[in-house]
Amino acid sequence: MTPIASSLLLIFSTSAHAKLNVVVTTPDLAAIAKEIGKEHIDVATLAKPTEDPHFVDAKPSFIIKLNHADMLIEGGAELEIGWLPALLDQSRNPKLAPGAPGHVAAAQGLQLLEVPSTLDRSRGDIHAAGNPHFLVDPENAKMVAQKITDALCALDEKSCADYRANLKRFTDALNIKIAEWQQKLAPFKGQQIVAYHNSWLYFGNRFGLVIDLFLEPKPGVPPTPTHLAEVITKMRQNKVHVIIVDPYLNRRTAEAVAGKTGATVVDVTQFPGGIKGTEGGYIPLMDYLVNSIAKALSKQ
Ligand SMILES: [Zn+2]
Repeated sequence: MTPIASSLLLIFSTSAHAKLNVVVTTPDLAAIAKEIGKEHIDVATLAKPTEDPHFVDAKPSFIIKLNHADMLIEGGAELEIGWLPALLDQSRNPKLAPGAPGHVAAAQGLQLLEVPSTLDRSRGDIHAAGNPHFLVDPENAKMVAQKITDALCALDEKSCADYRANLKRFTDALNIKIAEWQQKLAPFKGQQIVAYHNSWLYFGNRFGLVIDLFLEPKPGVPPTPTHLAEVITKMRQNKVHVIIVDPYLNRRTAEAVAGKTGATVVDVTQFPGGIKGTEGGYIPLMDYLVNSIAKALSKQ
């Protein structure tokens, strides 16, 4: 090897090794981690943006990614309980063990909603530790960004000033956007929306919408004809005109209910990249959600 080639290789490998390897479970966490870590981290995302975060197809390559990781960021609150614990075991990486500085559970310390007084999974409810879909509330996104910043600073002190500056930039941008989103949805305050799965509670609470009627009889339990008939009756009584559905759920069920009630089906996603136009990150995702829901509600 020529001296130039070998010194180039040295520069390349030094800079490559200087980056922290961060594995995240879902693309919303990836978007926030990238806002904070930028050029200092490499982010590998396990779930696809079009995949149900409760039921991710666990591939052998995930174990290798986890084995090489310096940090794991998961949603927590049992969102990944069906697929992540076995992968973590097999990855044999003590850096990612719960309690280690390389393990971040986004839910930890957040005000979770619908936490049951007793843990009960007996009837197929997959939200046994409270509702784990909290990142569609941008105030929660700010808190999770803060938590990721603290965790990155603990592992990589020399870049901490950059992480803190990135956090400030992200938080400032979100604060401007939150005011804009509130304003766009303000005319629809108190309106009810039907969702397929109970993953829009935090979004509804933040923006004054009531998203408490679901096509699933319980989180994770598929719709039944009896339950759908009840939903249709309630939709007619309460004059509900919008049904939101995520990419990995059965849109045809939503369309059938819409056909009987005159409602509009709106495609939504919790994840950047889940729907065309949301690829750009957390803020473009929220822009899409606010705009498409406001548009559907204004058609009534
Ligand atoms: Zn869920």
